[in-house]
Amino acid sequence: MQLIPHFIQGQTTAGTGPRRGPVFNPSTARQQADCAYADRATLDQAVASAVAAGRHWARASHNARQQVVFKMRELVLRDIDALARLIGQEHGKTFADARGEVSRGIEALEFATAAPVVTKGEYSRNVGGGIDVYSVRQPVGVVGCITPFNFPVMIPLMMGAMAIATGNAVVLKPSEKVPSSALALARLWQEAGLPDGVWNVVNGDKEVVDALLQHPDVPAISFVGSTAIGEYVYRQGTAHNKRVGSYTGGKNHMVVLEDADLEAAADAFVSAGYGSASQRCMAVSLLVAVGDTTAERLRALLLPRIQALKVGAYDDAQADYGPLVSADAKRAVLRAVEQCLGDGAQMVIDGRGLRVPGHEDGFFVGPTLLDGVTPAMDFYKQEVFGPVRGLMRVASLDEAITLTNSHEYGNGAVIFTRDGRAASRFVGEVEAGMIGVNVPVPVPVGYYNFGGLRRSKFGEAHMFGPDAARFYTKLKTVSQRWPEPQAGRPATQASSLA
Ligand code: NAD
Repeated sequence: MQLIPHFIQGQTTAGTGPRRGPVFNPSTARQQADCAYADRATLDQAVASAVAAGRHWARASHNARQQVVFKMRELVLRDIDALARLIGQEHGKTFADARGEVSRGIEALEFATAAPVVTKGEYSRNVGGGIDVYSVRQPVGVVGCITPFNFPVMIPLMMGAMAIATGNAVVLKPSEKVPSSALALARLWQEAGLPDGVWNVVNGDKEVVDALLQHPDVPAISFVGSTAIGEYVYRQGTAHNKRVGSYTGGKNHMVVLEDADLEAAADAFVSAGYGSASQRCMAVSLLVAVGDTTAERLRALLLPRIQALKVGAYDDAQADYGPLVSADAKRAVLRAVEQCLGDGAQMVIDGRGLRVPGHEDGFFVGPTLLDGVTPAMDFYKQEVFGPVRGLMRVASLDEAITLTNSHEYGNGAVIFTRDGRAASRFVGEVEAGMIGVNVPVPVPVGYYNFGGLRRSKFGEAHMFGPDAARFYTKLKTVSQRWPEPQAGRPATQASSLA
């Protein structure tokens, strides 16, 4: 069985720990590799390498760092198809979807080339008594990046590109379910000219995450994953005096008013709801129809669209989406459906029995739609990370906003309407970090900030955009006076006496 190693100081290594975990191809359910799990000693090695290499990288000129990021962008673009296939083999998403993911990662690299612009300091001349004040931003040092399974290339790049561009070293701990992409990126950074030791990858699970959270030489942690783990990472990291940005789960409501273009809303719901087998933190989870007529008309429009979705293996060019990432993930999704039905929801489209010819063992779930979902149901309260979506009915926009704001998550929220005033109220009153108006997945472009509200994010940082540059740099503010040279003395001597 192939062993997926770590990447430390520019080289792959199996590390010192004895632990290993299986990596599956979700389309076939077959184990395709073993992944080495790092122990504390291996992590120490990675951090030591990052500290040493990071010291030099932090001193490199802005221009030198920009050139590496420019080159990395070229290389990721060159290898986009290979990266997309790698993602598909371990995650299960289709080739087109995986290519889209890599493109969003490229966007993060493109914005990171603007690091010198977004980290520029301030300068105030003569604030009083001949004193000038200025500020500078410098790299924080070693950044620990802990990433989820659902975007194996995009999220490491969304975190890592700006961390690297602002002069930090990275220790990346990718999801143990999809470890190969992080290594592929490591090799590309090396080819792009990033000095060895500046980008390290340690694989593993809780053991290595805990070691990272406690490590005294890692001042910053960036995490993406589920809310329970993200809250734990935030609390542990901050207790160890680190800055932590933690981006977590979502349950994104899509509100549709009666005046909306319902055909467009139905199309948007199907692609944003079921794309990538709904394994996206910004997937639309709930369709909130305002008015019974809207709900009935939407339901009629959704039926043929959802039934037309084709589910297949990652390399099936006709497939709209692929399998779930693991057998456990499939079990959890099927359990959520059972419970929701038990709580009184009605089955509109049942995807539980789906069989994909030639891939009978794969972790597939067909598209499923439940009607009559209510806020009291666990299905409503929990993030269900699979292609099961819920239809809800409310009587007014007020009720839709109150419902959306009552949920513990606030990642994304979307409204479909032709009424500008209603949309404006929604934007003003809804408590979500990213809002769409007639746009189903409002993940902003790379030069805007990304992050949710409430329990969809812990900490004040944002994952990409200008805030990321601030997160990866520390601020120093300098008050400086240069006294006039005294008559008859050389300037340097006079200054030293001041
Ligand atoms: P996860 O929380 O299971 O894992 C995330 C990371 O944490 C992985 O690297 C994993 O190895 C590590 N981890 C797992 N258990 C741990 C533990 N007990 N202690 C310490 N570390 C642990 O998440 P996942 O299933 O890989 O990813 C899906 C989740 O990520 C969903 O909830 C999704 O909404 C969320 N997500 C959020 C965003 C966002 O930007 N808000 C983006 C993508 C995914």
